[in-house]
Amino acid sequence: MNTHGSLLVISGPAGSGKGTIVKHLLQDPAYAVSISTTSRAPRGDDIPGVTYNFVTADEFKDMISRGELAEFAEYVGNFYGTPVKTVSEMLHSGKHVILEIETQGALQIKSKFPEALLIWLSPPDYDTLEARLRGRGTNTEEDIARRLSTAKRELQFLPYYDYIVVNEAGKAEECADKIRAIVAVDSMSTKHNPDFTSIFYKKK
Ligand code: 5GP
Repeated sequence: MNTHGSLLVISGPAGSGKGTIVKHLLQDPAYAVSISTTSRAPRGDDIPGVTYNFVTADEFKDMISRGELAEFAEYVGNFYGTPVKTVSEMLHSGKHVILEIETQGALQIKSKFPEALLIWLSPPDYDTLEARLRGRGTNTEEDIARRLSTAKRELQFLPYYDYIVVNEAGKAEECADKIRAIVAVDSMSTKHNPDFTSIFYKKK
Protein backbone atom coordinates (compact mmCIF):
# COMPACT_ATOMS: atom_id res chain seq x y z
CA MET A 1 0.00 0.00 0.00
CA ASN A 2 0.90 3.67 0.15
CA THR A 3 4.56 4.27 1.09
CA HIS A 4 4.26 8.02 0.70
CA GLY A 5 2.95 9.89 3.74
CA SER A 6 -0.09 12.14 3.53
CA LEU A 7 0.30 15.85 2.97
CA LEU A 8 -1.91 17.24 5.66
CA VAL A 9 -2.91 20.90 5.60
CA ILE A 10 -4.36 22.23 8.85
CA SER A 11 -5.91 25.68 8.75
CA GLY A 12 -8.18 27.54 11.09
CA PRO A 13 -8.46 30.94 12.70
CA ALA A 14 -5.80 32.16 15.11
CA GLY A 15 -7.15 30.82 18.40
CA SER A 16 -8.49 27.57 16.95
CA GLY A 17 -5.77 25.69 18.82
CA LYS A 18 -3.75 24.56 15.77
CA GLY A 19 -0.44 24.72 17.66
CA THR A 20 -1.73 22.49 20.47
CA ILE A 21 -3.27 19.96 18.11
CA VAL A 22 -0.10 19.79 16.02
CA LYS A 23 1.91 19.09 19.21
CA HIS A 24 -0.46 16.21 20.01
CA LEU A 25 -0.13 14.79 16.48
CA LEU A 26 3.67 14.99 16.68
CA GLN A 27 3.69 12.66 19.68
CA ASP A 28 3.22 9.98 17.01
CA PRO A 29 6.55 9.57 15.11
CA ALA A 30 4.62 8.92 11.89
CA TYR A 31 3.93 12.66 11.74
CA ALA A 32 6.29 15.54 10.99
CA VAL A 33 5.62 19.25 10.75
CA SER A 34 7.03 21.59 8.16
CA ILE A 35 8.66 24.64 9.76
CA SER A 36 7.51 27.73 7.93
CA THR A 37 9.50 30.82 7.09
CA THR A 38 8.02 34.16 8.07
CA SER A 39 8.84 37.86 7.98
CA ARG A 40 6.81 38.57 11.13
CA ALA A 41 8.62 39.47 14.34
CA PRO A 42 9.00 36.64 16.86
CA ARG A 43 6.37 36.65 19.66
CA GLY A 44 7.02 35.72 23.28
CA ASP A 45 6.24 32.03 22.71
CA ASP A 46 8.32 31.69 19.53
CA ILE A 47 11.56 29.74 19.27
CA PRO A 48 13.57 30.60 16.11
CA GLY A 49 14.17 27.50 13.99
CA VAL A 50 11.49 25.57 15.90
CA THR A 51 8.23 27.52 15.61
CA TYR A 52 9.38 29.42 12.51
CA ASN A 53 12.46 30.42 10.59
CA PHE A 54 12.45 34.20 10.88
CA VAL A 55 13.69 36.32 7.97
CA THR A 56 13.31 39.92 6.79
CA ALA A 57 10.70 40.82 4.13
CA ASP A 58 13.55 41.25 1.60
CA GLU A 59 15.01 37.83 2.41
CA PHE A 60 11.52 36.36 2.01
CA LYS A 61 11.10 37.99 -1.42
CA ASP A 62 14.48 36.51 -2.47
CA MET A 63 13.23 33.06 -1.46
CA ILE A 64 10.13 33.59 -3.65
CA SER A 65 12.21 34.61 -6.66
CA ARG A 66 14.54 31.61 -6.21
CA GLY A 67 11.44 29.33 -6.26
CA GLU A 68 12.20 27.97 -2.79
CA LEU A 69 8.62 28.06 -1.51
CA ALA A 70 5.88 25.50 -2.18
CA GLU A 71 3.36 28.18 -1.25
CA PHE A 72 3.38 31.58 0.40
CA ALA A 73 0.94 34.24 1.51
CA GLU A 74 0.76 37.67 3.04
CA TYR A 75 -1.27 37.45 6.22
CA VAL A 76 -2.04 40.33 8.60
CA GLY A 77 0.81 42.35 7.05
CA ASN A 78 3.52 39.65 7.13
CA PHE A 79 4.81 36.98 4.76
CA TYR A 80 4.57 33.27 5.56
CA GLY A 81 5.73 30.39 3.37
CA THR A 82 6.47 26.67 3.18
CA PRO A 83 9.97 25.62 1.99
CA VAL A 84 9.53 23.17 -0.87
CA LYS A 85 12.70 21.16 -0.06
CA THR A 86 11.73 20.25 3.50
CA VAL A 87 8.27 19.09 2.47
CA SER A 88 9.41 16.79 -0.32
CA GLU A 89 12.18 15.29 1.85
CA MET A 90 9.75 14.60 4.70
CA LEU A 91 7.12 13.10 2.37
CA HIS A 92 9.67 10.76 0.80
CA SER A 93 10.69 9.59 4.26
CA GLY A 94 7.13 8.20 4.51
CA LYS A 95 5.96 10.63 7.20
CA HIS A 96 2.60 12.38 7.27
CA VAL A 97 3.65 15.98 6.74
CA ILE A 98 1.65 18.66 8.51
CA LEU A 99 1.44 22.15 7.03
CA GLU A 100 -0.11 24.51 9.54
CA ILE A 101 -0.98 27.32 7.13
CA GLU A 102 -3.69 29.84 6.29
CA THR A 103 -6.24 29.60 3.47
CA GLN A 104 -4.39 31.30 0.56
CA GLY A 105 -1.46 28.92 1.04
CA ALA A 106 -3.79 25.95 1.50
CA LEU A 107 -5.39 26.61 -1.89
CA GLN A 108 -1.95 26.85 -3.56
CA ILE A 109 -1.03 23.49 -2.03
CA LYS A 110 -4.33 21.97 -3.19
CA SER A 111 -3.67 23.05 -6.78
CA LYS A 112 -0.01 21.86 -6.76
CA PHE A 113 -0.67 18.67 -4.79
CA PRO A 114 -4.28 17.60 -5.50
CA GLU A 115 -3.87 14.62 -3.18
CA ALA A 116 -3.31 16.93 -0.17
CA LEU A 117 -5.80 16.54 2.65
CA LEU A 118 -7.23 19.87 3.81
CA ILE A 119 -8.56 20.05 7.35
CA TRP A 120 -10.32 23.06 8.81
CA LEU A 121 -9.82 23.27 12.56
CA SER A 122 -12.44 25.38 14.26
CA PRO A 123 -13.30 26.60 17.74
CA PRO A 124 -16.89 25.63 18.64
CA ASP A 125 -18.18 29.18 17.92
CA TYR A 126 -17.20 32.80 17.33
CA ASP A 127 -17.46 33.85 21.00
CA THR A 128 -15.03 31.11 22.02
CA LEU A 129 -12.65 32.24 19.27
CA GLU A 130 -12.67 35.83 20.56
CA ALA A 131 -12.19 34.72 24.18
CA ARG A 132 -9.25 32.48 23.21
CA LEU A 133 -7.53 35.29 21.30
CA ARG A 134 -7.88 37.68 24.26
CA GLY A 135 -6.80 35.00 26.71
CA ARG A 136 -3.52 34.53 24.84
CA GLY A 137 -2.24 37.91 26.03
CA THR A 138 0.44 37.99 23.33
CA ASN A 139 -1.54 39.97 20.74
CA THR A 140 -2.32 43.70 20.77
CA GLU A 141 -5.96 44.89 20.62
CA GLU A 142 -5.43 45.96 17.01
CA ASP A 143 -3.94 42.60 16.13
CA ILE A 144 -6.90 40.78 17.76
CA ALA A 145 -9.38 42.84 15.71
CA ARG A 146 -7.44 42.11 12.48
CA ARG A 147 -7.27 38.39 13.27
CA LEU A 148 -11.03 38.27 13.96
CA SER A 149 -11.91 39.95 10.68
CA THR A 150 -9.40 37.71 8.86
CA ALA A 151 -11.11 34.69 10.44
CA LYS A 152 -14.48 35.84 9.09
CA ARG A 153 -13.00 36.32 5.60
CA GLU A 154 -11.22 32.95 5.68
CA LEU A 155 -14.49 31.11 6.39
CA GLN A 156 -15.45 31.75 2.76
CA PHE A 157 -12.85 29.16 1.77
CA LEU A 158 -14.37 26.40 3.85
CA PRO A 159 -15.88 24.61 0.80
CA TYR A 160 -12.33 23.91 -0.49
CA TYR A 161 -11.49 21.95 2.65
CA ASP A 162 -12.10 18.22 2.93
CA TYR A 163 -13.03 18.04 6.63
CA ILE A 164 -14.04 20.29 9.53
CA VAL A 165 -12.78 19.27 12.96
CA VAL A 166 -14.08 21.20 15.99
CA ASN A 167 -11.56 21.73 18.78
CA GLU A 168 -13.62 21.76 22.00
CA ALA A 169 -12.06 23.22 25.15
CA GLY A 170 -10.06 20.62 27.07
CA LYS A 171 -10.46 17.95 24.38
CA ALA A 172 -7.25 18.38 22.40
CA GLU A 173 -6.36 14.66 22.44
CA GLU A 174 -9.83 13.74 21.20
CA CYS A 175 -9.47 16.32 18.46
CA ALA A 176 -6.03 14.93 17.45
CA ASP A 177 -7.57 11.43 17.41
CA LYS A 178 -10.21 12.60 14.92
CA ILE A 179 -7.47 13.94 12.64
CA ARG A 180 -5.49 10.67 12.93
CA ALA A 181 -8.67 8.80 11.96
CA ILE A 182 -9.14 11.01 8.88
CA VAL A 183 -5.50 10.42 7.85
CA ALA A 184 -5.89 6.66 8.35
CA VAL A 185 -8.95 6.55 6.08
CA ASP A 186 -7.31 8.85 3.53
CA SER A 187 -4.22 6.62 3.26
CA MET A 188 -6.47 3.83 1.92
CA SER A 189 -7.79 6.07 -0.84
CA THR A 190 -7.30 4.89 -4.42
CA LYS A 191 -5.69 8.28 -5.18
CA HIS A 192 -2.77 7.38 -2.87
CA ASN A 193 -2.40 3.84 -4.19
CA PRO A 194 -2.19 4.13 -7.98
CA ASP A 195 0.24 1.17 -8.19
CA PHE A 196 -1.92 -1.19 -6.19
CA THR A 197 -2.78 -3.48 -9.12
CA SER A 198 0.84 -4.05 -10.17
CA ILE A 199 1.93 -4.61 -6.55
CA PHE A 200 -0.96 -7.04 -6.12
CA TYR A 201 0.11 -9.20 -9.11
CA LYS A 202 3.84 -9.05 -8.32
CA LYS A 203 3.26 -10.57 -4.90
CA LYS A 204 1.35 -13.54 -6.33
P1 5GP B 1 0.94 33.34 13.51
O1 5GP B 1 1.42 34.72 13.21
O2 5GP B 1 -0.22 33.36 14.48
O3 5GP B 1 2.03 32.41 13.92
O4 5GP B 1 0.36 32.73 12.15
C1 5GP B 1 -0.59 33.44 11.41
C2 5GP B 1 -1.19 32.57 10.33
O5 5GP B 1 -0.18 32.20 9.39
C3 5GP B 1 -1.77 31.27 10.87
O6 5GP B 1 -3.06 31.10 10.28
C4 5GP B 1 -0.81 30.23 10.38
O7 5GP B 1 -1.47 29.00 10.14
C5 5GP B 1 -0.35 30.85 9.07
N1 5GP B 1 0.92 30.30 8.59
C6 5GP B 1 1.98 29.86 9.31
N2 5GP B 1 2.94 29.40 8.51
C7 5GP B 1 2.48 29.55 7.23
C8 5GP B 1 3.02 29.23 5.94
O8 5GP B 1 4.11 28.71 5.78
N3 5GP B 1 2.25 29.55 4.88
C9 5GP B 1 1.02 30.12 4.99
N4 5GP B 1 0.34 30.34 3.86
N5 5GP B 1 0.48 30.41 6.18
C10 5GP B 1 1.20 30.14 7.29
